[in-house]
Amino acid sequence: MTDIPTLYELSVPGRPGTSLPDCDVPPAPLPDDLVRADNGLPELSEPEVVRHYLHLSQRNYGVDGGFYPLGSCTMKYNPKINERLARLPGFAGLHPLQDEASAQGALELMHRLQEALKRIGGFAGMTLQPAAGAQGELTALLMIRAWHANRGEPGRDVILIPDSAHGTNPASATMAGFVAVEVPSDGRGNVDIEAVSAACDDRLAGIMLTNPTTLGLFEERIDEVAALVHAAGGLVYGDGANMNALTGIARPGDLGVDLMHFNLHKTFATPHGGGGPGSGPVGASAALAPYLPGPVVEMDGDGRYRLETPARSIGRMCAFHGNFGMLVRAYASIAGHGDSGLKANAMAAVLNANYLRVKLRDRYPVPFDRTCMHEFVCEGRPDGTRARALDVSKRLMDYGFHPPTNYFPLIVPEALMIEPTETETLATLDAFVAAMLAIADEARDRPDLLHDAPHTTPVRRLDEVRAARELRVAEPGDPE
Ligand SMILES: *Cc1c(COP(=O)(O)O)cnc(C)c1O
Repeated sequence: MTDIPTLYELSVPGRPGTSLPDCDVPPAPLPDDLVRADNGLPELSEPEVVRHYLHLSQRNYGVDGGFYPLGSCTMKYNPKINERLARLPGFAGLHPLQDEASAQGALELMHRLQEALKRIGGFAGMTLQPAAGAQGELTALLMIRAWHANRGEPGRDVILIPDSAHGTNPASATMAGFVAVEVPSDGRGNVDIEAVSAACDDRLAGIMLTNPTTLGLFEERIDEVAALVHAAGGLVYGDGANMNALTGIARPGDLGVDLMHFNLHKTFATPHGGGGPGSGPVGASAALAPYLPGPVVEMDGDGRYRLETPARSIGRMCAFHGNFGMLVRAYASIAGHGDSGLKANAMAAVLNANYLRVKLRDRYPVPFDRTCMHEFVCEGRPDGTRARALDVSKRLMDYGFHPPTNYFPLIVPEALMIEPTETETLATLDAFVAAMLAIADEARDRPDLLHDAPHTTPVRRLDEVRAARELRVAEPGDPE
């Protein structure tokens, strides 16, 4: 693989990036303290700079470039019409401090999105503020704390979290001042109901349930779990990251969930954007809605929209109104699909995941092998070979696919969590299956091929621990 030279290596002293016409006014000298000769900037023509960045961008792997089955992340295609709508000057050019009267259209869009998410989730209230799923978790946990304090039970400090949960769950519970207590999963991959029952005492503040679970399975006794927790005075938080399986089919609010975050960048096709803006709206039951962060958008009798802070609000979670551009994209996605389209998406996401599960399970063991939702978890050691999930993933890159999620959830050894989403064709799914089966053969016949993979990518196998601990985002040779 050839390396792309840095801008500094390409630099030619004196080569300008622009050409200006001859000056037709007397030149005015710049103040001395503004002129620096030692700034070390590369000197290049405009096309050289454009090509440099284009080539760099082409080394990145995105959902526009290929199949991206990263489990739990719902890397579905992001329709370009949503981008166009978010860029409409009336949305993109608004100032967040503009008065309500001059921003009625934006407020109406936020109101419509609030209503749509309430309807989809079965909730009475909705905040669009949180800037990510994890911030939605924190928002809901702070609401749970305020709820118990308001009822004179500030001593309720335990949050139950299944052992299959996303790492953000215990982190959010701890940040909100709770004690996170792990509960095991049972043999079918559900939360162990006996363990929940045993933990139901007067210290219980609530439980965080992900449904479908991170095993890609429907939490079969969620109504019983919710009833147990409620009877003990606790609340049920739903981690809604996996709503892509349920949208239009089941409503968490109807299943006993009091509070839940949505990930607009998962379920509603807004871009994940390389760590860029996300959005994690939180829905609340009628009893919890007064605790939502403010402001939320209300509609008056005369059809005008205004911002309102709920009566017992925990306060703000985000500056201004959340990541507004993401709200526009998500609303475009919801309105563009309509109810029947959203349901069809969920059905196709579930069908695609089950197709892959059944095609792969003879070579890649699936420990909790029942009809899955939008994703499933298999063991990344084909046919009992010594290959590891990491080897399979790295080798997949040679076949042109983004790897699935590795080593999560923690309760499956050598876990590969595969989520195809609804936006992929049968031909793509079959190509992925063919690659996975070919890799299983290689694991048996040529294990070194896996162990040394990837072979064809611009960067070969990284020392992942070092890459995380000693992150260097500058190009070699760049001034630090
Ligand atoms: C993605 C995810 C989260 C966190 O969402 P972010 O938007 O990444 O903060 C929480 N729980 C589960 C199950 C997830 O998949």
